[in-house]
Amino acid sequence: MFFKDKHCPTCGGSGTQVFTPLKPEERKALGTHRTDLWRCTAPGCRWYQPWGHQTGGGRLPEELQNPGADTSA
Ligand SMILES: [Zn+2]
Repeated sequence: MFFKDKHCPTCGGSGTQVFTPLKPEERKALGTHRTDLWRCTAPGCRWYQPWGHQTGGGRLPEELQNPGADTSA
């Protein structure tokens, strides 16, 4: 399950990114049990947000950052 019509404020640009629901370990790292939080899957990105809006979103800890894109650049 994912959606891909969201803009990511930390990726920037005019395009949209694919978002997926937070995994249990990601929710644990944030200290939340919310199930309506989604994260951007772009390489190197740590952004997460509630389903419908960027307000209330933020950045995951660095250890949960997506794998970087430097090998494919
Ligand atoms: Zn992003």
